[in-house]
Amino acid sequence: MATNYPAWGGLNFGQQQGKIIPNRFFSLTNIDAHPPFLPYGNGRSYGDSCQNTGGVLLDCRGLNHLMAFDRKTGVLKCEAGVLLSQILRLAIPHGWFLPVTPGTRFVTVGGCIANDVHGKNHHRAGAFGCHVRCFELKRSNGQSLICSPKENTDLFRATIGGLGITGLITWAEIQLAPCQNPLIGQETIRFPNLGEFFTLSDESDQKYEFTVAWVDCLARGRSLGRGHFIRGNFINKPAHYPAYGRKALPMPIDPPFSLVNSLSLKIFNALYYSRQATKKSAKTVRYEPFFYPLDSIDNWNRLYGKRGFYQYQCVIPPETSRDGIREILERIAMSGLGSFLAVLKKFGNIPSPGLLSFPRPGVTLALDFPNLGEKTRNLLSSLDQVVSHAGGALYPAKDARMSEEMFRQSFPGTDAFIPFIDPAFGSCFWNRVNG
Ligand SMILES: Cc1cc2nc3c(=O)[nH]c(=O)nc-3n(C[C@H](O)[C@H](O)[C@H](O)COP(=O)(O)OP(=O)(O)OC[C@H]3O[C@@H](n4cnc5c(N)ncnc54)[C@H](O)[C@@H]3O)c2cc1C
Repeated sequence: MATNYPAWGGLNFGQQQGKIIPNRFFSLTNIDAHPPFLPYGNGRSYGDSCQNTGGVLLDCRGLNHLMAFDRKTGVLKCEAGVLLSQILRLAIPHGWFLPVTPGTRFVTVGGCIANDVHGKNHHRAGAFGCHVRCFELKRSNGQSLICSPKENTDLFRATIGGLGITGLITWAEIQLAPCQNPLIGQETIRFPNLGEFFTLSDESDQKYEFTVAWVDCLARGRSLGRGHFIRGNFINKPAHYPAYGRKALPMPIDPPFSLVNSLSLKIFNALYYSRQATKKSAKTVRYEPFFYPLDSIDNWNRLYGKRGFYQYQCVIPPETSRDGIREILERIAMSGLGSFLAVLKKFGNIPSPGLLSFPRPGVTLALDFPNLGEKTRNLLSSLDQVVSHAGGALYPAKDARMSEEMFRQSFPGTDAFIPFIDPAFGSCFWNRVNG
């Protein structure tokens, strides 16, 4: 049975030959299907890391049980297909929050481990893998292994950021972070150029748990890198907070062309930059709009039309980040391509246990590009050159096109990782970056 699971970016990688929905008694040795296998979380990776053309997807959305929760210590055990939104619903009323969260809550715990996702608190908390206490990994030889920093340590390290090809994670135990209520004291500061972003990042990382910036990717000259710096902390005193009644807006159709184009981008960016009258504003917000602004539009990816889009996320090390990010923003601004939401964030230096973990010290930039074919791919290749020259890396969860050389440069741990790949597992992404 052929199954079509499109990537979130809307790009087509071909059909999977079938899908299996594992349950907790699942064993890879007695199924009637042929490898290669690949676990599938909730398909929120933008490119082909959750795609397995010609192979079989292990659709983990059926592994959706919360198994145990210690309200005193915040230790949660859950199946790997549990969504972060489920965890939030359970944990917040008991004073706990996710230790690390990406910009959408509709991702699974398995997906968060396999891409070792990061969030706005990377400078304080590191990546998701830093908070994983242990997990069960099913291998194609029938073994079920408990992996932790003390047990099967090598497989533990290979599976965090391991792109789903070391085996199937069936459940995991995570240490949650305390939070008295889900309100955030948020400050937004408009900054006029890239230099100011670095100054604000340096001064904010000490005092604020969450930091991120939106940049106007079309601004040039003295305004290059201008944007809004957003920082915040949980309000850690008991407070009454209203229920979150806002429903997500629907994006019901795939328009024939991208609604994100040079004109709409120019208008949006100019308006967004000047949307706040004062240089600085402060307010208290619930966690949903703070962490998950894109979740407020259902299927926002459809804005890009039928041809879809490429997401591009790089990290540039501290020593080269000022020049590297400047050069990248200049090339994007010159091209007139880019997205409404270009995100800039300084990563901290808390190491992840993951062998192929993407987050590392430096500055990360993420943005979408409507798929205009050759034109877009040429621009992205030219950005690769800057990233490569600056000693940086690209993020597999957001990638649909990086070369083998770029992958090798981005992940020096690849040789150490390869022995832990399950021989019956594979993915489109892995095939592409390994010739
Ligand atoms: C709006 C939006 C915002 C985002 N913001 C961020 C961000 O701020 N930071 C960030 O780091 N990422 C971000 N992402 C990317 C996203 O967090 C990752 O791609 C995440 O891995 C997707 O999880 P998923 O459950 O959808 O997994 P999928 O995309 O389905 O799969 C991701 C990988 O996990 C593997 N996998 C899934 N389940 C298992 C399992 N049970 N066992 C073993 N391997 C498994 C798959 O094989 C695949 O390699 C964002 C994505 C979106 C759409």
